[in-house]
Amino acid sequence: RQAMKQTLGRDVGIPVATHDYLTNIANLMKSVTVIEESKMASLTNVATRDGLTGLFDQATFKYRLKEELERQVRYGGALSLLMFDLDHFKKLNDTYGHAEGDRVLKGVADVIRSQVRMLDVAARYGGEEFAVILPTVDTAGALLFANRLREAIFKAFESEEYTVSMSGGICTNLETGDKSADELIKVADKGLYKAKEAGRNRIEMAE
Ligand code: GH3
Ligand code: MG
Ligand code: MG
Repeated sequence: RQAMKQTLGRDVGIPVATHDYLTNIANLMKSVTVIEESKMASLTNVATRDGLTGLFDQATFKYRLKEELERQVRYGGALSLLMFDLDHFKKLNDTYGHAEGDRVLKGVADVIRSQVRMLDVAARYGGEEFAVILPTVDTAGALLFANRLREAIFKAFESEEYTVSMSGGICTNLETGDKSADELIKVADKGLYKAKEAGRNRIEMAE
């Protein structure tokens, strides 16, 4: 940096000096590109996935939800969110072991992938909790999707000794985009708890 500063008569800064050092002197990097820090952050965000299931992780889910809400405000239409949690999963782990539990989580992710559309965003929100963003989908459509997914998950493990069911909550943002990302998550989560309290293996809406 100092040598470049003396030659050029101005301070090139750390990024430019580093670029020159790594490519031209140390030969440690080839085809180096320049990208704005904020752009880099958003690109890496998009790419972060959960190691076990391959679904988006929670951070990326939240980032994508905000993005989808911005898109909704601009282009209109509804947007729905489904949050669901597997029923009595602790018992499955305790009875059949953690490895079998992991296998079930992977299987559930496969079912989700087989059910969602291209524009939908599926994520592993936490341990055995999942979330799906349904852009342009209203409440009726979200209910239909959620129950179809619930049945598909149940069916996928029908030949096992145990049953796998889920309880879910949905929340819809109307055309006006009235709720923030955090509010949508909160309301969908409320529906999820309502479904648990009502006896599990169902989809509910908190209203
Ligand atoms: P409920 O119907 O009320 O949801 O009961 P539950 O037992 O599913 O609820 P709880 O949230 O108490 O338990 C979640 C369990 O999920 C506990 C934990 O051992 C298990 N779990 C969380 N993450 C993983 C994981 O990555 N792999 C496995 N095998 N199990 C996990
Ligand atoms: Mg659970
Ligand atoms: Mg849970």
